[in-house]
Amino acid sequence: PVIFVGAGTCGLGAGADRTLARVREWCAAKGLEADIKEVGCIGLCSEEPLVDIQVPGRTRVSFSSITADKVDALLDRFFAGSLPMDWVLGQFPVEGLEPWPRVRPLAEHPFLALQRRWVLANSGLIDFRSIDEYIARGGYSALHRTLTTRTRQEVVDDVLASGLRGRGGAGFPTGRKWQMALASPGDQKYMICNADEGDPGAFMDRAVCESDPHRLLEGMVTGCYAIGASKAYIYIRAEYPLAIENLKIAMDQARAYGLLGENILGSGFSLDIIIKMGAGAFVCGEETALIHSIEGKRGMPRPRPPYPIQSGVFGKPTVINNVETFSNVPTIMQNGPGAFAALGTAGSKGTKVFALSGMVRRTGLVEVPMGTKIRDVVFAVGGGIPNGKKAKAVQIGGPSGGCIPEPHMDVACDYEELKAFGAIMGSGGLVVMDENTCMVDLAKFFMEFIQSESCGKCIPCREGTKQMLDILQAITQNRRAEEGLDALLRVRGVMVLKELGEAIQKSSLCGLGQTAPNPVLSTLKWFRDEYEAHIYERR
Ligand code: SF4
Repeated sequence: PVIFVGAGTCGLGAGADRTLARVREWCAAKGLEADIKEVGCIGLCSEEPLVDIQVPGRTRVSFSSITADKVDALLDRFFAGSLPMDWVLGQFPVEGLEPWPRVRPLAEHPFLALQRRWVLANSGLIDFRSIDEYIARGGYSALHRTLTTRTRQEVVDDVLASGLRGRGGAGFPTGRKWQMALASPGDQKYMICNADEGDPGAFMDRAVCESDPHRLLEGMVTGCYAIGASKAYIYIRAEYPLAIENLKIAMDQARAYGLLGENILGSGFSLDIIIKMGAGAFVCGEETALIHSIEGKRGMPRPRPPYPIQSGVFGKPTVINNVETFSNVPTIMQNGPGAFAALGTAGSKGTKVFALSGMVRRTGLVEVPMGTKIRDVVFAVGGGIPNGKKAKAVQIGGPSGGCIPEPHMDVACDYEELKAFGAIMGSGGLVVMDENTCMVDLAKFFMEFIQSESCGKCIPCREGTKQMLDILQAITQNRRAEEGLDALLRVRGVMVLKELGEAIQKSSLCGLGQTAPNPVLSTLKWFRDEYEAHIYERR
């Protein structure tokens, strides 16, 4: 038999390391020669630790919340021939294998039923340290075809035709970026994978790097070939030790298999990828700050133009895409751009991965087709609000994003539709609030985060966010604000926050400052009464 233990960061946080140890002890004590595998995150983080068991000839069955104290009971009952139904999550049907009676397929579980898993296709299913398992599921076959039969321009054309847009926030068409890089003159070009995921509530990139690192590498090698880059960086925060470890193992394996390094797959194309660890500054997710950090300088943004595509790392043309963007590329090259473009809306193609958290029953990683309603992500996939409470809003896009109030939750996951609501797709953080959440407190939380992460280079962001935070702190504390501020607020009310926010948006140097007021402005737009209650009804 094979026993799989979900040992990604979410699993480890729920005690998967103890579960794993207990599984090993149980097998040793019983003399069972099981193949015990560590797998990454399947997405259902709220059900961790997850343990799957597969016996020869039968489909794999998945059990939820198997903490170390439940391991003996689970394995005793399972190998005695009775399925412990109280912990069964579902099974993975495979043609030719006998299904377990009375156990429904996992794909019918409400958490997975609406999902379309392209980026997360292997996450939680394969041994996250095995290149062979990635290859067995079709991995690197598209890369082989690309490097041996396709020109650079053909690859760029496919990515253009797929309609893939950058998943890191702004949604710039990936193919256009690659086309500009391919057309750039110069002997040296660079590609960077931005894995510096810093939004509170976002963990998509971490999970992909941990659970399916070869998918990211395959996307990056394809991208580097397309633009003619012989050197690439993965910029990842040092707080992601498991992701870094698994990426390093994957890179060593890829080198050993001739998929990275000199003359990849005999194609004549050579590529070196370097992992660069960041110290966790949110601003280093901004492209120019990230480039400075890679160059060994302080991670501070600079004015653009020149854009990185013109002058990036060490002054050379540089393409920056995030983990999810690269991880879509193997699917595009495998299935063709038409299949990718067939899913989604007119302007937003493919799928989107969200990190679903907050006041929702099932938290975790979700990958849905573009165009899916936010309401369906929260209620159908996430199972709705716990404890009989009502939904109040969702915050999408992290501290750069905005909130969508409950009556508008039918808005689709679509770059333009979300923008029209004053929100952004962002990298995919989706935090659910119930009726008890104070939206002013929520805005204050994000403003505290942004204020402490502002690099301080330009005045509107450095001083403006401080002013906004001072106001938010004053009106949310159960005491009278400082007299001058109090008088100003009583006369001008929420207009003070609105004008300050708009000024910061217009005059800040980089995206961090330009989007810093978004959580305040969007909560102000939909929940103005809560701000006014804080201003006028304080004691
Ligand atoms: Fe630094 Fe903020 Fe100015 Fe960006 S907007 S350069 S983070 S001070």
